Amino acid sequence: MSDAPAIAFAGVGKDYGRTRALADLSLTVAPGEILGVLGPNGAGKTTAIRILLDLIRPTAGRAEILGHDCQRDGPAARSAVGYLPGDVQLPSRLDGGVLLARAGAVRGRAADPARVAALTERLGADLGRRVGELSKGNRQAVAILLALAHRPRVLVMDEPTSGLDPIRQREVLTILREEAAGGVAVFFSSHILGEVEHACRRVAILRAGRLVALDEVAAIAGAARRRYEVVLHAPLPHEPFSAPGVVEVARAGDALELEVTGEADALIRALAPLRVRSLRSLQTGLEDAVLHLYRDGAA
Ligand code: ATP
Repeated sequence: MSDAPAIAFAGVGKDYGRTRALADLSLTVAPGEILGVLGPNGAGKTTAIRILLDLIRPTAGRAEILGHDCQRDGPAARSAVGYLPGDVQLPSRLDGGVLLARAGAVRGRAADPARVAALTERLGADLGRRVGELSKGNRQAVAILLALAHRPRVLVMDEPTSGLDPIRQREVLTILREEAAGGVAVFFSSHILGEVEHACRRVAILRAGRLVALDEVAAIAGAARRRYEVVLHAPLPHEPFSAPGVVEVARAGDALELEVTGEADALIRALAPLRVRSLRSLQTGLEDAVLHLYRDGAA
């Protein structure tokens, strides 16, 4: 079991009556890896996360954490996990300090006070006030601290930066990267492409319950169709600009908007004989690729 993946989904599906929330999901996350999970609303991200925690049962396949079946061997699987739900609901009359102590009692060991102090400081978490009195972002900070405090080997987080200000968002991503550098596996969902690009090497994209892409960020971004704006010194003749892998999609005077599939090399060669005033990429590769996958679902 020691060389088992930190997280493994094998053919996992979940149906709610006729709604297929998740279909045949297979992927693994290694210790020390951060996997970002993207997908439009209703794609199945939360469903996958809830199956790991055995909050819902799959209708097909199996999920494992560190070799423990999440359903049949749930307590062993969950003992390794720090979990942040997407809709944080903590008992409003208790403060973070009490919740932390209770989490320690359930786990059978208190969190290391030095780690709690460091996380409290970095997340700006207020453990002394009743949770019900905290703002949304401050409640989120307490919930993130609760997920991290006991040094879990696997972190499962549903939109961890949701509701946080940009400074805290950045700090959370930094903490996740530090945890991963120490061997922790992280599985987190997000709607923010930039943070996935920043935090993860590999990304999974779900759409309508299906895995439509699972690859390194650079590979997904590199395979994308990219758009460029080219401004020339002299107008082109009226025929559309064309080259292998390059299609003209718009023209306004001397400015052309071109769509390029694959590498930019064909575009550069096609432009070489012309006098180019400026050349600008209109979207990042990942953003372009993800929007395309969200719309068409073609891997
Ligand atoms: P979001 O980005 O909006 O949080 P998500 O990717 O997390 O979306 P899920 O919450 O996993 O999506 O939902 C996947 C699908 O399962 C959706 O079609 C949703 O309507 C459906 N679903 C989720 N929970 C239930 C339920 N309890 N009963 C019926 N259908 C459900």
